[in-house]
Amino acid sequence: MRKLTEKRIVLASHNAGKLREIAELLAPYGIEVVSAGDLGLTEPAETEDNFAGNARIKAHFAAKASGLPALSDDSGIEVDGLDGQPGVYTADWAETPQGRDFKMAMTRVWALLLEKQVLKPWRARFCCTLCLAWPDGHDEIFAGTVEGQVVWPMRGEHGFGFDPIFQPDGLKETFGEMDPSQKHDMSHRADAFAKLVAGCFGD
Ligand code: IMP
Repeated sequence: MRKLTEKRIVLASHNAGKLREIAELLAPYGIEVVSAGDLGLTEPAETEDNFAGNARIKAHFAAKASGLPALSDDSGIEVDGLDGQPGVYTADWAETPQGRDFKMAMTRVWALLLEKQVLKPWRARFCCTLCLAWPDGHDEIFAGTVEGQVVWPMRGEHGFGFDPIFQPDGLKETFGEMDPSQKHDMSHRADAFAKLVAGCFGD
């Protein structure tokens, strides 16, 4: 596995919630981070039907355009009672002509669970795939998950995306109700990040 020796990387995302969380996870490692938006990079189309494929597209695009190693995140929520949907299409479920509306997307998940008469607990997991790509075309991939259930109504103002309806196993709070540091102890993103650190950081 290739080690990251460079001290500056690009975060290949335009999602403010992801950027904040990844920057917080990277903070202890003394790596300077610059976002794709700061460099004026555009967003490539996510044309794959799996997390790793889309993470690769984003990281390679940013690495080539910037000449720096690039770290991307492709993630989503899989709901068992909806046959794994929205999954890799989680962000798409929030699209409207006026921008992304996650309240609408969460309401759609809840309405479909009711329509299909799925019994509770509504099992679900968040998945995150991180891709670290270098300008020469090499990459490393790391996947993380956190198991839990979809709850209704939405609860909490922290986090982003689907956090207000996801309650991780063993806890009574949703990700939306938790303090960011508590989410970093258990999230799908933190799980993938720990694997990245073990594989690519240090000797
Ligand atoms: P994409 O990776 O850009 O395709 O978008 C993934 C989508 O999944 C985000 O826009 C969020 O809606 C959702 N998502 C991923 N990770 C999280 C999380 O930690 N909390 C809440 N929603 C998330």
